[in-house]
Amino acid sequence: MKTIWIDGKKMAQETLDNLRPRIDHLKRIPRLDVIWVGDNVASGIYVRHKKEKAEALGIQVNVHHLSEKTTLDALYHLINQLNQDEIIDGIMVQMPLPNHLNSNEILDMVAPDKDVDGLTTVNLGRLICGMPSLVACTPKGCMRLIESVVPDLTGKTAIIIGRSRLVGKPMFHLLLSKHCTVIQAHSKTEKLSQLCRTADIVIVATGKAGLIGKDDIKVGAVVIDVGISRQAQGPIQGDVRASEIDGVAYAATPVPGGVGPMTIAMLMENTVLASERHQGIV
Ligand code: NAD
Repeated sequence: MKTIWIDGKKMAQETLDNLRPRIDHLKRIPRLDVIWVGDNVASGIYVRHKKEKAEALGIQVNVHHLSEKTTLDALYHLINQLNQDEIIDGIMVQMPLPNHLNSNEILDMVAPDKDVDGLTTVNLGRLICGMPSLVACTPKGCMRLIESVVPDLTGKTAIIIGRSRLVGKPMFHLLLSKHCTVIQAHSKTEKLSQLCRTADIVIVATGKAGLIGKDDIKVGAVVIDVGISRQAQGPIQGDVRASEIDGVAYAATPVPGGVGPMTIAMLMENTVLASERHQGIV
C-alpha cells in the first residue's frame, strides 16, 4: 500500500488563503491579544510564529509578555480588561504557565466569545452538547486533516491516545459528532497496542517520541501524529515511528509539517470567526 502523507503545510496555506476574502469583508481589522507569561524559549518561538502568520494575513496582534512572577490577580485584571475591550476579538494564553499559576483557572477567565483557543469550560461544554462554539485549534485541525482523506467518518472506529483538555478531550467529541465509535486511551490504558489495531483512525497525542509503530496499527489505518518532542540535538520528533508505518497506513501526517501548521491556521480561522460574530456578520 502506498501511504498518503498528508501535506499539513499546504492545507494550512489553503485555509489561510480562504480567510483573506473574509477578512476583506470585515468592517474593521480583526485583533488578537496573546498573553505570554515567563521566558519559556519554545513558547517564545510559538508566540512569534503566530504573530507573524496573523500579521501577514491582516490580523492585528498585541503580545502581552509578562514576568515569570506574575500573580493570579494581575492576570485576572489584564484578562478582564481585554474581555471588555470591544476592538479585541480573540484572547489566547500561551501554555505552559509557570507552576504557581493554575492554568484551568486562568483559561476560564477568558470570555467564551473571545476564546479563540477553544479551551474555556464553556466552549468545551458547548462542543460536548453539540452547540456552536469556538473549537480547540489542534483537534479542529486534526479533523480537517482526517476528513481530507476520509470525508465520511460515519461508523469508523477511532482511537485517541491522550486525554488532555488541549487535544484529547475535544478530539473525542469532534469524532463522536461525526458518528465515529471512539476509544480514549491514556497513560493507564492496558493493552494499548491491541486496542490501536482495532481502529480505522489513530490519533496520537502523548509527547512520547516514537510510541506508536507498525505493529500498533492495522493495515489501511489513518494515523494522525500530534506529538512534538524536542531533543537536545537533531530534528523534532513525533509520537509515531513514521518510517515504519510507511506502506502500512492508508494515510498519515508527518512531523514536522502535519498537525502543527494546521493548528496555527485554525487559530487564525477562529480569530476571523470571532471577529465576524462580534461585527454581526455571521
Ligand atoms: P499532555 O501532557 O497534557 O497529555 C499527554 C497525554 O498523553 C496524557 O493524557 C497521558 O495520559 C497520555 N500518555 C502519556 N504517555 C502515554 C503512554 N505511554 N501511553 C498512552 N498514553 C500516554 O499533552 P498535550 O498538551 O495533550 O500534548 C500532547 C503532545 O502533542 C505533546 O507532544 C505536545 O507538544 C503536542 N502538541 C502538538 C500540537 C501541534 O500543534 N502539533 C499542539 C498541541 C500539542
